[in-house]
Amino acid sequence: MAIDFTLTVAQQRLQRNAREFAVEILQPLVKTADEEPDTQKAFQMLKGAYVECHKLGFAMGFLPKQYGGGGVSNVDLQIVAEEITAVDPGFATILLVNGLALMPVAWFGSEEQKRRWLGEATSDPRGEYIAGWTVSEAAGTPGGTANFDHPGAYPNGMGLVAELDKGRGEYVLNGTKHWPCNAGGWDLKGANVNVCIVRTEPTQGGKTGLSAIVVPRGTPGITYKQPISKLGHRLCQNNSIVFENCRVPAENAFAIGNGDLVISKAFTWSGPVAAIAAVGVARSAYEYVLKWAKTYTAGGNAPIIQHQAVGYLLAEVAMRIEACRAFSWKAAHYLDLYDSDGHAVGAMSKVFCGETLFNAVFRLMQAMGVNALDKAHPVEKYLREAAVFPLYDAGNIGMQMRKIWGVMLDDAFDPRAIADSKPIAFKKSMEGAGTLVAPQNGLPADRADARHSQRPSSRSKSQAAD
Ligand SMILES: Cc1cc2nc3c(=O)[nH]c(=O)nc-3n(C[C@H](O)[C@H](O)[C@H](O)COP(=O)(O)OP(=O)(O)OC[C@H]3O[C@@H](n4cnc5c(N)ncnc54)[C@H](O)[C@@H]3O)c2cc1C
Repeated sequence: MAIDFTLTVAQQRLQRNAREFAVEILQPLVKTADEEPDTQKAFQMLKGAYVECHKLGFAMGFLPKQYGGGGVSNVDLQIVAEEITAVDPGFATILLVNGLALMPVAWFGSEEQKRRWLGEATSDPRGEYIAGWTVSEAAGTPGGTANFDHPGAYPNGMGLVAELDKGRGEYVLNGTKHWPCNAGGWDLKGANVNVCIVRTEPTQGGKTGLSAIVVPRGTPGITYKQPISKLGHRLCQNNSIVFENCRVPAENAFAIGNGDLVISKAFTWSGPVAAIAAVGVARSAYEYVLKWAKTYTAGGNAPIIQHQAVGYLLAEVAMRIEACRAFSWKAAHYLDLYDSDGHAVGAMSKVFCGETLFNAVFRLMQAMGVNALDKAHPVEKYLREAAVFPLYDAGNIGMQMRKIWGVMLDDAFDPRAIADSKPIAFKKSMEGAGTLVAPQNGLPADRADARHSQRPSSRSKSQAAD
């Protein structure tokens, strides 16, 4: 019996533990933290719940067992993620980002780096250890994140430059990051580590010029600003960070020249988690509105579910939730088979479920009516949360769809490989799709010539601090 959606006894236990945590420990904190205008204070309100997650194995459970992690499969992660996101997807993002930051060390790091960084993350007796995944950059011209794999030299693509000081065996980081989660840590003085994507070769394009580096807390030359105030996912901390002559030991770097592959794989691993997060939010919205529809009459002589229009809306949403859960599980299972090399299906699940269920939450609002807008009900929050799914975790339009397209462009692409759970090796040649556009209205497609004048370095400190 190869296809069976029944949970094992162990998975049922995992689901129960996650549900109990979400309902009993997380739920009571959510409303106050969501409404807190001070974004750092809101994040700090979650610290106790986060420590509980450490104890339960949800904060680092996905890391490999040989380095102290729980070795939790992608499929099992789905079960935990649905329960936590059904209560608050912002909080769940804090946990997810530990994986986005540290799984790259497990995939691309040396044995020594894995022992050191993963060992540290899994052995914190206080359970406060947190890791930042530091990729995204601020909007601007140049600026943004989506074209990290652009073939042009700096300032196309990533702008946090790391220059190797060979004499001292250190990289010197200059530039900014904007959006990374967890990066500021509980006190805005830094996460325990920040895994940063940096430009080690500014004269080269994104497919050869990027690398990853582990920046430990306490490294001088980094400023963390007040976290971004967002529409949804308000419980996770999104940071704005300035690096000024920040010196990091060269031995902390990994995936030299392959930072692009780190980005592509990490946002593949997180794809099915983001997909099931959309399921979690839609499930909660659906259950709330279903109950409402069975009791509220809207001035008529029967509860509104007796109107066929309302019944059809609810049926449509229920179908979408089931379909998206199945797709999320399928994608997670595929990633389990191939050590998270499932760049097309991981992205597909994230894009499809996020888009489908954002729309589903709005349909639920239509079924409920104007009261769905009232903050006395949780439905407006569900819509705010659902709006994040297509935009975060490598935005659907600028990053995830490009990845799917890039895989399909490959001459050897087998359109049945996903259905048959056959491997699709991800190659650098699949990156960069749609990044290089023809010049229009006088704007150059490749701004390589501008690199010397705009590159942040130790010589242009003030620019880096802007
Ligand atoms: C809750 C939350 C958590 C997050 N956590 C993290 C984190 O931990 N670490 C991190 O680094 N970032 C994080 N982010 C940022 C997130 O990953 C974004 O997806 C990322 O910044 C890229 O967004 P974008 O695609 O909109 O990029 P942008 O570069 O701002 O692009 C903007 C838009 O331009 C268009 N576009 C640009 N280029 C192309 C192209 N080549 N083809 C087609 N369209 C294009 C697309 O419509 C795209 O959406 C987080 C964001 C949120 C909201």
